Amino acid sequence: MQSGSCQCKNITYSFEKEKVISVHNCHCSDCQRSTGSGKATLIYIAKKNLAVEGNVKFFETKGSLGLHIRRGFCENCGSGILSYAKELPMLIFLKVGTLDDSSWVKVDSNFFSESAHNWNKVDEEIKSFRGNPDMITNIKALFKAI
Ligand SMILES: [Zn+2]
Ligand SMILES: [Zn+2]
Repeated sequence: MQSGSCQCKNITYSFEKEKVISVHNCHCSDCQRSTGSGKATLIYIAKKNLAVEGNVKFFETKGSLGLHIRRGFCENCGSGILSYAKELPMLIFLKVGTLDDSSWVKVDSNFFSESAHNWNKVDEEIKSFRGNPDMITNIKALFKAI
């Protein structure tokens, strides 16, 4: 069982490593702003396979595909924990930096490489998408989340 939390531990979560669908670096400008960093590294996991305790507050923006992206954070300490598209709530994007142990995480691909910066370069050893991932990748992730 894997676990994680926000900095103040008001929000905690757990899941089984085997249930992870995929892992991605997202270099989009909204992820940069919300993390205060060059990218967000996100675990894709079905909502049903993730147990969250505590009160997650959400801030909603409109993503590039027109979906409403809801980024969840701790109201007390401000740590970003997870996000999802309002239209596809069964698929959760969990922020890898909040895991208690993330040493096992292997990133599959990069999203929004076109907005990556020199100070936080795209990992050239894995597959990159200039913007959003292609439909096949999206559909595969969604299918596994149902
Ligand atoms: Zn907190
Ligand atoms: Zn992003």
